[in-house]
Amino acid sequence: MTKYIFVTGGVVSSIGKGIAAASIGRILRNRGFSVTMQKLDPYINVDAGTMNPFQHGEVFVTDDGTETDLDLGHYERFIDANLNRYSSVTTGSVYSEVIAKERRGDYLGGCVQMIPHITNEIKDRIRAAGANPPVDIVIGEIGGTVGDIEGQVFIEAIRQFRKEVGNSNCLNVHVTLIPEVGPWGEIKTKPTQHSVMKLREMGIQPDILICRTKRPISDEMREKISLFCDVSKEGVVESMDVDSIYEVPLVYEDMGLTSLVVGRLGLPDRPANLEQWREIVRRIKEPTYEVAVGVVGKYTDNGDAYISIGEALKHGGIANDAKVSLQWIDSENLDEGDVSAALSGLDAVVVAGGFGKRGIEGKIRSVQYARETQTPYLGLCLGMQMAVIEFARNVCGIGEANSEEMDPTTPEPVIHILPEQKLVTDMGATMRLGEYRCQLVAGTLAERVYGEPVVMERHRHRYELNNEYRERLAKGGMICSGLSPDYRLVEIVEVPDHPYFIATQFHPEFKSRPNRAHPLFQGVIEAAVRRSGGRKCGAASSADGDRA
Ligand code: GLN
Repeated sequence: MTKYIFVTGGVVSSIGKGIAAASIGRILRNRGFSVTMQKLDPYINVDAGTMNPFQHGEVFVTDDGTETDLDLGHYERFIDANLNRYSSVTTGSVYSEVIAKERRGDYLGGCVQMIPHITNEIKDRIRAAGANPPVDIVIGEIGGTVGDIEGQVFIEAIRQFRKEVGNSNCLNVHVTLIPEVGPWGEIKTKPTQHSVMKLREMGIQPDILICRTKRPISDEMREKISLFCDVSKEGVVESMDVDSIYEVPLVYEDMGLTSLVVGRLGLPDRPANLEQWREIVRRIKEPTYEVAVGVVGKYTDNGDAYISIGEALKHGGIANDAKVSLQWIDSENLDEGDVSAALSGLDAVVVAGGFGKRGIEGKIRSVQYARETQTPYLGLCLGMQMAVIEFARNVCGIGEANSEEMDPTTPEPVIHILPEQKLVTDMGATMRLGEYRCQLVAGTLAERVYGEPVVMERHRHRYELNNEYRERLAKGGMICSGLSPDYRLVEIVEVPDHPYFIATQFHPEFKSRPNRAHPLFQGVIEAAVRRSGGRKCGAASSADGDRA
């Protein structure tokens, strides 16, 4: 029998509900259970694909090409599993399905209603997550906070779900904030009491409260929360702020959360295997080296917009025993003037993916800087396309080289629209999405870094390197080192005579894990450590001035 854990949030958003859910996944994986995770998002978009990353954070892509909320990235990184379309549910996708069924006549003339039709569809999706593939435990996170109007039908669905599978197969976890208020920073439980009250009004009695706090919660306070919220005292779990998100599973383990969950769900109490995770955290907390890496993009005001890139770089740091000091650099500020003011002192430069024209000249100039100064460079999707344009313009003498995306009438479309994209008019879920095979060319940096001849990587793009320019780029010295199996599509380019210059049409950041850094990220950090001359952690870097 599959067990289900539902995670809701209260008081305010942005208190780390996704990390809390993912960490519960990790502690259960450490006990040898198979786990999948699901995000139940109350927004009306059918998927996250059409959402602006500036407002909503990164769009994460799964192997099967589902464009999802960034929380799925956390889930995959924590539970070390590849998720699929069953892990992403939105109000929009639920309603689309119910309306399609109604149009087909599946409801036999019945009046289609929130309860039971919408709630049934949500419950079917929860069951489907547990069955594709079959797992011991499904952890479902409800987006937003309790009390949001748009989240109500999901709360009602999980209420019904618990009734159907029974109390011993279902657990409700509520993540809440214990804020500090007043001049002496007193910590207050009242917002948590109200949040639980709201949840109970809707028929959900939480079994566990994860209390996010900056200060330790006293025994007395736990008793008070327990009494007012009708949760056992052991069920009131303190979760203090920590330096790294990867510490959270260890905090939960120390707080006894795993035993509590396992006991409550009647699962066998197996010994925990914590070695690997402890080693990850040790390397994060006591690194030998330190490197400064600049990520050039246009959504730098929202740290969540490039979250998988930041995490993948940190994983590269874990693999190389190095702390990665990230600098988010707004490419628009580099469109003109001296780029070296912003980039000198960096040990590596990454140009992120993106869409549209804004800030692209700054990206192209960042590539040029990295290439000419022998600074390790990793280009991701748009960062690959910009690397091709830069090389065409500045090395191959194709002065007007551009992408059709930025200038549809460019005389030199070194990047042009994929043929199958030409007739696409709808924006949602129509890009080249998800996992495709890529063949690596023998003797290239790509092959050396991956250490294998064929790789599978995740994509999200509409444009590609124009094959008509391949020969001229090759004459200039650019190597196409990764190709689709039919050789039609260039997936990786690199520039030799450079310590590390590589750029990919796909998004390797989506496949990196703390215990298994993606080879391209491991490689760029290794090159960065080399460039820094093995600078020890804590020693000043010449980039510190820029950071201050
Ligand atoms: N805008 C580019 C394209 O559609 C790059 C996409 C990306 O960086 N994800 O091809």
